[in-house]
Amino acid sequence: MNKIKPNSFVKLSNFTTWRVGGEAEWLAEPKNLDEIKQLIAWAQAERLSCQIIGAGSNLLISDSGLQGLTICLRKFNGSFIDNETGSIEALSGEPIPSLSRKAAQEGLHGLEWSIGIPGTAGGAAVMNAGAQGGCVADWIQAVKVLPLKGGEVFEINKEDLEYSYRQSILQREDLLVISARFQLEPGQNPKELNQKTNQNLNYRTTTQPYHLPSCGSVFRNPEKDKAGRMIENLGLKGLRIGGAEISTTHANFIVNTGNATAKDIKELIAVIQKKVQDTHGVLLHQEVKELGFDRKD
Ligand SMILES: Cc1cc2nc3c(=O)[nH]c(=O)nc-3n(C[C@H](O)[C@H](O)[C@H](O)COP(=O)(O)OP(=O)(O)OC[C@H]3O[C@@H](n4cnc5c(N)ncnc54)[C@H](O)[C@@H]3O)c2cc1C
Repeated sequence: MNKIKPNSFVKLSNFTTWRVGGEAEWLAEPKNLDEIKQLIAWAQAERLSCQIIGAGSNLLISDSGLQGLTICLRKFNGSFIDNETGSIEALSGEPIPSLSRKAAQEGLHGLEWSIGIPGTAGGAAVMNAGAQGGCVADWIQAVKVLPLKGGEVFEINKEDLEYSYRQSILQREDLLVISARFQLEPGQNPKELNQKTNQNLNYRTTTQPYHLPSCGSVFRNPEKDKAGRMIENLGLKGLRIGGAEISTTHANFIVNTGNATAKDIKELIAVIQKKVQDTHGVLLHQEVKELGFDRKD
């Protein structure tokens, strides 16, 4: 059995798509289930807190970094496709765009909407990621999880995941998602699926700032409007704090123009929330998850 050793004082800005975040006290990138189990056991033995990250594409990590052990799952990747039945099981670190491509190539309809989401299968299952009329909850069947407090792998069916708009029970429980199983529609034309997938990607890259570091949409859409439209109508596009800027392409994106800190981004989020609340009486809720802001040294 190979022993996995976490590294100390690792720069987390290399692990988030916003390119911000301080250092992880300990960080490891396991490649298999055995290594994941070893890491959880080590954190327990050392009495360290343990946090999970995927591609870091929906994460604001504080400039003071993360205490304890951070497990990044992006190297725990791969997928098993049954193109006759349409069942796909993706390991948690499998990139969503690659899963979307593979499904289309195998003639499986269902994931064409997901091509522009730069997260992992695990992160997408946790977030109920969605775009262009589709979301994870429409196609997922079950996830396999491992309790962070110790225990064995078990499966949770879709009905018990309590999926709603960008929400799931996985955001509230101390569970590490090992894999996600999707049921797609087999026997479709790969050429047509590829075309649809390309169209979706093209739409995303022309309407959203894919050329700059971001975390996608910062806020969830409120019930009766779009967060981006509300922010744009207040004339806030282009507003900057330090290196963080409200994108001039899409107002629900905050981009890192080069030297943004997590503090800059957090302050800009607060300014947007206040302006929208003062004008419309609506509190915009963050879609982006925060880590490390409750740090006590
Ligand atoms: C350019 C861009 C465009 C985007 N467009 C969209 C979009 O259209 N729709 C959309 O929904 N999102 C979008 N996002 C946001 C993001 O890609 C999704 O939320 C994605 O699902 C996050 O996956 P991740 O692996 O990066 O998760 P992370 O950001 O690493 O983590 C997100 C949360 O999930 C938890 N987590 C991650 N992996 C696991 C695991 N295996 N087990 C347990 N917990 C885990 C983390 O602790 C954290 O709370 C976009 C982001 C960017 C940068």
